[in-house]
Amino acid sequence: MKGRYPGDLIITLVVALPLLAALPRIARQLEWSWAALCGVLAQGSGILALSTFLAAAMLSVRLPGADRWFGGLVRIWAIHRLLGVCAFVLIMVHVIFIALAPLPVSVDASVASLFPPLAQWPLWLGWAGFAVMVVFIAPTFNFFGTLHYQRWKRLHLLSAPALVLGLAHGMVFAPDTTLWWLLGLLALAAIIWRKGLSPFLARKPYRVDSVDFLARDVVELNLLPEGNGIAWQPGQFVYLTPMESSLAAGYREEHPYTIASSPGDRFMRIGIKGIGDATEALLDIKPGARVRVEGPYGTFLNEPGIHSRQLWIGGGIGITPFVSGAREWRDGHPTATDVALVYLANRPERAYYLDEMSAIADASDGIEVFAHYSSTEGVLTQDYLQAQCPDFREREVYLCGPLGMIRHVEALLLRAGVPRQRIHTEAFDFL
Ligand SMILES: Cc1cc2nc3c(=O)[nH]c(=O)nc-3n(C[C@H](O)[C@H](O)[C@H](O)COP(=O)(O)OP(=O)(O)OC[C@H]3O[C@@H](n4cnc5c(N)ncnc54)[C@H](O)[C@@H]3O)c2cc1C
Repeated sequence: MKGRYPGDLIITLVVALPLLAALPRIARQLEWSWAALCGVLAQGSGILALSTFLAAAMLSVRLPGADRWFGGLVRIWAIHRLLGVCAFVLIMVHVIFIALAPLPVSVDASVASLFPPLAQWPLWLGWAGFAVMVVFIAPTFNFFGTLHYQRWKRLHLLSAPALVLGLAHGMVFAPDTTLWWLLGLLALAAIIWRKGLSPFLARKPYRVDSVDFLARDVVELNLLPEGNGIAWQPGQFVYLTPMESSLAAGYREEHPYTIASSPGDRFMRIGIKGIGDATEALLDIKPGARVRVEGPYGTFLNEPGIHSRQLWIGGGIGITPFVSGAREWRDGHPTATDVALVYLANRPERAYYLDEMSAIADASDGIEVFAHYSSTEGVLTQDYLQAQCPDFREREVYLCGPLGMIRHVEALLLRAGVPRQRIHTEAFDFL
């Protein structure tokens, strides 16, 4: 998750190329007059808004493996969201400069430049695109309260018509549309792949072989592929789609889950904690049930150039990437030479993978496991880490769990002097 990735260059090119291509033409219009200056800034912000919107759309493609170029899918979603916000702000800047250009003449002229007669339809295409964008982007920022995740996702499909309207608006004003055609087709292909084709072509059929009950609200599904399965690295996650209509919820709904088994395991094991309708329904899934699996994604715990001494800190169900790493260790393929695993749980019965992790540590060299219970020890502290793992400041640190826990532990580590670039996090929440 740290540093620069090759994909960053691709994003920069997509965002910057249209503006760079238009610069000579825009520069010729530059005069030292208010109207010309506003006109140039309106054009520049409009071009940047469209290219940023297109880059955000391209990033929604979600190709397994390709997410590595960008530092993993979680980082891609963060960039996608940032680009979406930037596009939105740039559109408003574009509108403001269009309105400002004729303002010294009169307020009426300014209003007319924004809302011309309908005959000037290219401008109205822009407004229509912006209106559709507001509808799908507003729930992302909880403008009208929190929307259920699946409804939010369906609403996000409006990004496709918003993109087409925005492109049509921009292309009317562009003397050369070749680059816009190219970028527009790539962005639309990304959306078509993701929404129309990948559910049929990228999801692999698996069957639930057995279900292990780890706690009242936690199960581990043991999945077997029907046909060619997926290969993975510790720390990676997949999208799992149940294909059983008898489930109380979540039928044909994809959700991300980390793979908890070792890459050499016959089963793909997924530990699931019921926190909402779809995950709670999976607590009742029966052996023989059909699911679809798409992935794997992510670079957590499997980035290139991995450090030999590591500290793993997992909280609650966020222990699953480390369960995969420990199981790989058990299979004789350690991911590092020296690992200290701190297992954070409220109470002993909530540390549902602890017995297995401790058994692996007892039977292997180089891996130690410490359980920390908040009910008796309070929140994790620097003193606790110092006592259990005195060299924690020199280690590469991996953190996974709920967002609140990650924020607390990350701040603690930074205060203790662990450099930011050595702290790797995976929150089980994209939003
Ligand atoms: C990279 C990653 C790995 C994960 N690994 C595991 C795991 O190994 N075990 C486990 O139990 N849970 C894991 N989760 C969390 C799991 O995906 C959510 O608990 C589940 O999606 C919640 O769905 P729900 O309908 O039961 O609950 P809801 O009440 O619908 O959702 C609860 C919250 O989960 C998030 N969420 C819901 N649906 C999705 C979705 N399709 N995509 C992304 N986020 C969503 C939203 O923030 C939502 O607010 C992981 C999440 C991520 C992002």
